[in-house]
Amino acid sequence: MSYIDAKAAPRREDRLGTCIEFGGLIGDIAKPFCEGCLKNRSRAFSQGTICQLLPALAILTSLQETVVIAHGAIGCGGAVHSLGSSVRLGQWRSGDKNPKGALWLSTNLNEQDVTSGGEVKLREAILEADRRYRPDAIIILSTCVPGIIGDDIDSVTNDVKDQISAALLPVHCEGFKTKVMATAYDAIFHSFLRNVVDGRDETDFGVYDNEAAVAAEAIRRKRLVNLMNVSSMTGPDQNELTRLLNKLGLEVNMLPCDAHPDAFRKAPFAALSIGVCPTHDDYFMSYLEEKFGVPFVGGQMPIGIENTGTWLRQVAAKLGLQETAERIIESESAELNRALEPILPSLKGRTAMLSAGEMRTLATAVLLQELGMEILAVRPYHYDEFGAVEVEKLSGINPSIRLNVATAQPFEAVNMINRAKPDLYIGHNSDNVWAAKCGVSVLPIYGTNSIYSGYAGAYDIARRIRRHLANTSFNDKLSRNVRQPYRKNWYSEDPFKYIKGGELSA
Ligand code: SF4
Repeated sequence: MSYIDAKAAPRREDRLGTCIEFGGLIGDIAKPFCEGCLKNRSRAFSQGTICQLLPALAILTSLQETVVIAHGAIGCGGAVHSLGSSVRLGQWRSGDKNPKGALWLSTNLNEQDVTSGGEVKLREAILEADRRYRPDAIIILSTCVPGIIGDDIDSVTNDVKDQISAALLPVHCEGFKTKVMATAYDAIFHSFLRNVVDGRDETDFGVYDNEAAVAAEAIRRKRLVNLMNVSSMTGPDQNELTRLLNKLGLEVNMLPCDAHPDAFRKAPFAALSIGVCPTHDDYFMSYLEEKFGVPFVGGQMPIGIENTGTWLRQVAAKLGLQETAERIIESESAELNRALEPILPSLKGRTAMLSAGEMRTLATAVLLQELGMEILAVRPYHYDEFGAVEVEKLSGINPSIRLNVATAQPFEAVNMINRAKPDLYIGHNSDNVWAAKCGVSVLPIYGTNSIYSGYAGAYDIARRIRRHLANTSFNDKLSRNVRQPYRKNWYSEDPFKYIKGGELSA
């Protein structure tokens, strides 16, 4: 991967041909995507989107012993205020019994800095962060303003690096550079790979001071795996996946979320990297394999019954643990099926729409199909080659599912909900609020204390859907007492009419 020599990671649009504008039937996306026809699409009208700084802040502020400096206007860091409790909880769950929560500073660039430059403020902020917190790492997160005025964050970090002990990580995350917020994941991993993951072995520093200790460590590493958590993986999700991997006899090095920077330093010594979402971790795992020879698996999320089994089989196949994996899958599936038996009749034939990140939306829709529900529409935030495997499963069962690739765009969502009238909408709260106002029952596709992954996640999602569908009176009443902001005639329009090149209509 030659990308790593560059200061910044490429945009997802360029690296993967990622698209965020599509509306049509689910089976209609594969051909134009493969032919590159979905690149450079746009919307003639766009209502809301998500800057890549949001996922970047969610991951980076969760890191232990790490300070994040948002280099830019003060508003760029606003999202951190909503992350406080979940960051602290995540750090505590990851073993930090004195969690410091989100440590972040802003260089608070103003109009004068726009003309005179923000490098002096950035330098002062780095020194202040080191003096105040003595962290293990300081992240310099570049936003739109320094990107536009040309601040050289790499030079500033180079200039001060000898004055402080913390590792310095410049992360190029300017919001205006990309329409695909998942570019943030590459930007973060890019910086860690360039500045922290150096492959220097602890044995080189005398940590293991005799031959027996070195040999024991070598044996341990044969069963050590990197488990790539994502910021939309809850503590219970992490416990469930760790439980399954422990059953295979594996020890988990979890990163990046809630991790100490040492988890990144250890990563090159693992026997395998295990992804839970290719949208999130392909950049990191591919480079780890290329540079340090650590193989990886991760084509799908372990959400859903079949998907969890496939995920375990992929891990086991790389480590020669197939027989153990089959035994685990058989016993876990049997237990799950027994638990689901009384729930499934309430779900059979009920209809659903979903929206969220690409893989989570599609994998959760596949799970709902496994539970006997009918999927009417899916709205992933973006689409790229990773989504193809789940799209194929969904369209194989029902080719008339509507597919709307959209980061937010509530006007399209509301139009589609009014046409489809699903029993249930599963999405993030920013999407669910629109469905709720349409009178549809909603279930969060991610909530800090719930579980979604693995066999326990499949059961819990089914259990919660049954509860939500049992009483829909709140949303019924809500829809009668609130007004959506759209004119009546919008609901009879093609929901995808503003997608340029969107001739594949509803
Ligand atoms: S779009 Fe630019 S200015 Fe706005 S929050 Fe993102 S980085 Fe900051």
